[in-house]
Amino acid sequence: MFTDSHAHLDGKRFDTDRAEVLARAKAAGVETILAIGNGDGPGTDTLDCAIKLARQHDGVYATVGIHPHEAALAKQEDFDQLERLARDEKVIAWGEIGLDYFYDHSPRDVQQRVFVQQMEMARTARLPIIIHCRPSNNSENAWDDLLRILRESWVSSGLGGVLHCFTGTVEHARAGLDLGFVISFAGNVTYPKAQNIRDAASIVPLDRMFIETDCPYLAPVPHRGQRNEPAYVVETARQVGALRGLSREDIGHQTSENFVRFFRLAEAH
Ligand SMILES: [Zn+2]
Ligand SMILES: [Zn+2]
Repeated sequence: MFTDSHAHLDGKRFDTDRAEVLARAKAAGVETILAIGNGDGPGTDTLDCAIKLARQHDGVYATVGIHPHEAALAKQEDFDQLERLARDEKVIAWGEIGLDYFYDHSPRDVQQRVFVQQMEMARTARLPIIIHCRPSNNSENAWDDLLRILRESWVSSGLGGVLHCFTGTVEHARAGLDLGFVISFAGNVTYPKAQNIRDAASIVPLDRMFIETDCPYLAPVPHRGQRNEPAYVVETARQVGALRGLSREDIGHQTSENFVRFFRLAEAH
């Protein structure tokens, strides 16, 4: 049994074969998927995309939120819509939200403001948050800002969250764990150059870890370069297992248990 804790299944790249993709996931043992609901961003009528998918498919849960890339497009009406969508029973987290200083698609001060505003809304909605954090090349700038903002604006909520597609250092992982976060590893843990990610995956406690695809991006080896899909999360499980002396099934089982416990799925939904 495996859980893909972060998948973008809404986009055009899955429009022709979404049902087959989800059938392949089931056949591979991927029984639970968290569909990320950023869609194409504010003003595109897609902020409910993950909820729609979760209603259509068993084992699929949803998030809502505005990605840092699109922070500059956010208007009050989008926040109003998110507030309504967050009450849907399929929504179990707010995200992905955070900071991206690599692409800088939105100005950094705007990214920070929209991030903080969404944390306030997640706190009201009693939802944990899914964090996206990407610094500039050869820099830790986004990590420095992220950890400061989380300490100032989130930790007191007690709701925790997920550092998705973790690409930081062992120190960043430890800082995130100290703040009550789960660390989620994606397919890039299999890439030859990503020793820092493997180092982090070697030390994160097994009960504080998720695995994810972040599909359609970042397909793990041996699918690297192709469109990623939830079935491929087993390759990430294999790699993390190899680092821990465990089988891919062990990692799949443990991270699936973590997912159910963290999101309290046994209690509701
Ligand atoms: Zn992301
Ligand atoms: Zn993502």
